[in-house]
Amino acid sequence: METRKVYLDNSATTAVADEVLDVMIPFFKVGMGNPNSLHEWGRDTRRAVDEARASLASLIGSGANEIIFTGGGSASDNLAIKGSVWAAKTPGRHIITSAVEHHAITDTCKWLGKNGCEVTFLPVDENCMVQPEVLEKAIRDDTLLVSVMYANNEVGTINPIAKLGEICRARGVLFHTDGVQAAGHIPIDVKKLPIDMMSMSAHKMYGPKGIGALYLRKGIKLVPLIHGGGQEFGLYSGTENVPGMVGFGAAARLAARLHDEGEEKRVGALRDKLLDGIVASIPDSFVTGHRTERLPYHASVCVRRIEGEGILLRMDYAGIGVSSGSACTSGSLEPSHVLLAMGLDHETAHGSVRLTLGKDTTEEDVDYVLEKFPPIVETLRKMSPYKA
Ligand SMILES: *Cc1c(COP(=O)(O)O)cnc(C)c1O
Repeated sequence: METRKVYLDNSATTAVADEVLDVMIPFFKVGMGNPNSLHEWGRDTRRAVDEARASLASLIGSGANEIIFTGGGSASDNLAIKGSVWAAKTPGRHIITSAVEHHAITDTCKWLGKNGCEVTFLPVDENCMVQPEVLEKAIRDDTLLVSVMYANNEVGTINPIAKLGEICRARGVLFHTDGVQAAGHIPIDVKKLPIDMMSMSAHKMYGPKGIGALYLRKGIKLVPLIHGGGQEFGLYSGTENVPGMVGFGAAARLAARLHDEGEEKRVGALRDKLLDGIVASIPDSFVTGHRTERLPYHASVCVRRIEGEGILLRMDYAGIGVSSGSACTSGSLEPSHVLLAMGLDHETAHGSVRLTLGKDTTEEDVDYVLEKFPPIVETLRKMSPYKA
C-alpha cells in the first residue's frame, strides 16, 4: 500500500507551478542573452524581463518602474531597511519594527541597533496583531522608518496594514511591510494603501527560489546593498536572473488567475475545516493567531503537553509534511519568538504545529490529516513526561 503524501508546509516554500516552469525553461537555452546586450539575444531577454516586471506590478497595482527585482524575500527586506537608513539625510536614526517579524527583518534591525540606530520592537496582542495605538505611541520625532509585516509566517495573522501605514504617513515616517506571505495570496493594491515599500518572494507563491522583489514607491531613495553594473534602477546590481524573473512574472499571473477563480475562498474553507477538526478532535489544543484576520491557506495550532517536533516526525512518517514553529528556527531548543511575544509560556509554545495549505491541497488531504493527527497526539501524550 502506498502512503498518501500531503504537503502542508507551503509557508516554508511552494512547488513551482507547471505553467511557471514552462515559461522559465527557454530562458536557460535559446533565451540565454544578457538583457543589457544590444543585440537580438539581449533585446529578447530585456523584453521578457520587462513583461515579468509588468505582471508583478499589475498584481499589486504598482507602476512597473516601482518593482525592483532582488535575490529573494530576505534580500528585499535588507534592501528596504538598510537602504532607507543609509539614504537618510536627516539625523533621524530611530526605527520601529514588531517583535514577531521574520529573521530577515529582526536580525537586520538588531544589527542596525548595534551600528548607530535605535530600534523599538513593538509588542503584539494575543492574536499576533500589531495594534495601531501601540505604533502611534512609539513614533518619535527622530523616527525614520517603520517595518511591520503584512501577514505573519508562523501564525498567519494579517496586520491592519492600512491603519498602520496611515499613522506613518501622517507623521512623515517611511513605512515598509514584509509582504512575503501575503503577496499573491490575498488581494493587495498599493495604489490604495499607504505603503512605501513591500517585500515579496517568488518561492512563496509557486515561483522559483532565489528571486524576490521590492515594491518601492516612486520618489523614495534607497542606497543599494550591492554596487556594480547598475541593474534594477541601480538598486540591485548584477546580471539579471532572467529565468527567475520570468518565472516570478508567470507566478504573478497565476496568482491573479487563482484569485479570479475564487481560490482564497476554496482554500479558506479547507483551512477552517482543518482548524475546526483539530480543535474538536484533540483535547487541549487551540488555534494560534487570529481566527478570521488570517491568511486563507494558513492553519496553526498548539497542542498542550507535547512537543511540536514529535508531532512533525510522526506526521512525516504518515506522509504529511508540516512544521513546528518556523522552519528557520526548528532545530533550536528556544521556542519561537513569535509565540512567546503572543504571551504563550515556553511549555505551551513547544507544542506548536503549522499546517499551510496550497492550491493543490484537496478536501481528501484535509480528511487524511484529520484522521492521522489525533492518534499521533494520543500516542505522544502517553509517552509525555508532562502531567495533564
Ligand atoms: C520566507 C520569508 C522571508 C524570506 O524570503 P526568502 O525568499 O526565503 O529569502 C521573509 N519574510 C517572510 C515573512 C517569509 O515568510
